[in-house]
Amino acid sequence: MRRGATVLPPRSRCGGPGVGERDGKPVLLNASRGHGLHSWPRGNLMLIAQPNVDATYTTSLWLPFAAEDPARPSWATMRTPQDVRRLFSEHFPDTRQFLPSFAEDVLSAHPGALKTVRCSPYHHERTVLLGDAAHTLVPFFGQGINYSFEDVRCFFEILDRNLAEVDVDTALRGTLPEFTRLRKPAGDAITDLSLAMGAQLKRHSATAGFQARAVLERRLHERHPDLYIPL
Ligand SMILES: Cc1cc2nc3c(=O)[nH]c(=O)nc-3n(C[C@H](O)[C@H](O)[C@H](O)COP(=O)(O)OP(=O)(O)OC[C@H]3O[C@@H](n4cnc5c(N)ncnc54)[C@H](O)[C@@H]3O)c2cc1C
Repeated sequence: MRRGATVLPPRSRCGGPGVGERDGKPVLLNASRGHGLHSWPRGNLMLIAQPNVDATYTTSLWLPFAAEDPARPSWATMRTPQDVRRLFSEHFPDTRQFLPSFAEDVLSAHPGALKTVRCSPYHHERTVLLGDAAHTLVPFFGQGINYSFEDVRCFFEILDRNLAEVDVDTALRGTLPEFTRLRKPAGDAITDLSLAMGAQLKRHSATAGFQARAVLERRLHERHPDLYIPL
């Protein structure tokens, strides 16, 4: 089933913790200075509030485009402000005070599709794909642009090394297949991790076990940054 997200304008100015909830209690993910990522995981649907540098939040709503059961919420069933208000009342009641015009915002936004692109090879003759063109990731791991920048660094490292040895044509002929060979396995890995993180966020991030693990991983990393890097 394809899913889509829409981004609501950063209107909410809720600077402190306590915006998300677990069993009716606030949940704050990754809250290093009280202004972290908040999530309302509801299995098939999810609301995420990501912090902006000016202490506001940008809020994304994740819903299927259409549900097999028409009674389940989906973009197809969000036709009127009442539909959106019903969804938020049922699933995200504590957010309503922070999102004064959420119904209009949701209805006026155009949901984008969540996509995963896997291809191989990343090159053809003298053409190479870098970034999302080669490996579009679902955004739950927040690594799409990092991995794209790394593509560029990796490509030029290989090219520069080859250019030091041979002429441009030969260097390019060697660089492109080597780029695919080095980047394709890592591209598949980050794609899989992003999908797995999405499933975790939607289904488990509100559980005490997920929260405890996140705290433990952060502490381990703070104490032993060389030995332990959380995913
Ligand atoms: C909702 C969402 C949240 C995300 N959050 C994060 C995050 O927190 N952290 C992170 O690292 N990544 C995140 N990403 C992923 C990140 O945005 C992408 O990985 C990154 O933008 C990829 O860069 P790119 O240059 O490869 O592709 P793009 O940014 O897609 O750039 C491609 C450009 O090419 C242009 N173009 C397309 N076709 C043509 C054509 N025929 N002629 C000329 N121009 C063309 C497009 O208009 C576009 O400007 C997120 C993505 C989404 C959708």
